[in-house]
Amino acid sequence: MVDSLMVPGQQSWDYDLIADIFNSRDAALILQVPLSVRQNEDWYWLADPKWQFTVRSCYNMLNFEANVPSSKVWKRLWGLEVPGKVKHFFWRALMNVLPTADNLRPRKVEVSPICPICNAVNESVLHCLVECLFAHSCWLLSSIGTFGSCSSLIDWFEQIFTRCCKEDCNLAVILCWRLWFNRNDKVWNDHCSQAQSLGYLDLREESALEGWLETLEVVLLQQSVRVSLILFTLARLKRWLSVKRLVG
Ligand SMILES: [Zn+2]
Repeated sequence: MVDSLMVPGQQSWDYDLIADIFNSRDAALILQVPLSVRQNEDWYWLADPKWQFTVRSCYNMLNFEANVPSSKVWKRLWGLEVPGKVKHFFWRALMNVLPTADNLRPRKVEVSPICPICNAVNESVLHCLVECLFAHSCWLLSSIGTFGSCSSLIDWFEQIFTRCCKEDCNLAVILCWRLWFNRNDKVWNDHCSQAQSLGYLDLREESALEGWLETLEVVLLQQSVRVSLILFTLARLKRWLSVKRLVG
């Protein structure tokens, strides 16, 4: 027992005893181990501020070690006003489970490590959606622009939420969606869109139905009716139609 190496009744090592039993190297290592000043022995769960084990603290600790996005990131993603399929795509991107070359090659899938769009740099999800020269051009053509270097897609997503308005956050995820499908089009059909056609994202562009909704808004306003709820609903419907058009 370890406590047999301690001075009886005290919270300190028995230096003489340890020097007698162990060689000088082991004795030095043992004596470096700090001893608790508490009299009672207890178990403490260091991953919780109250030192008590909970499933939640264990889950958070494992997510932190695996570099999984925090719940704050997920809340932001689920709160975006984009179609569910776009959210699902971006969830996969943040979890780094998209079939990019750097994810496929360790699983023995024989693909080129090089980005199929720029043919210059190894492909990763961050490269494909943000750092690739082609993606860079698309971001510059959009209302969102580019930021400095990012350590990961999660880091980039956090920067988007820190610097952009809500509408641009929606557009950023939609542009990622379009970049990914353009990448797949290149891989499978050897076709790549123009940066202008991908980067130009304008939610204000109107379809025939949106134009009709616009006219209805004007008519209702002219009637001086208390229709704020209807107008609010119409505005949301128009925005949703615009987003749906961008993601196809
Ligand atoms: Zn590239």
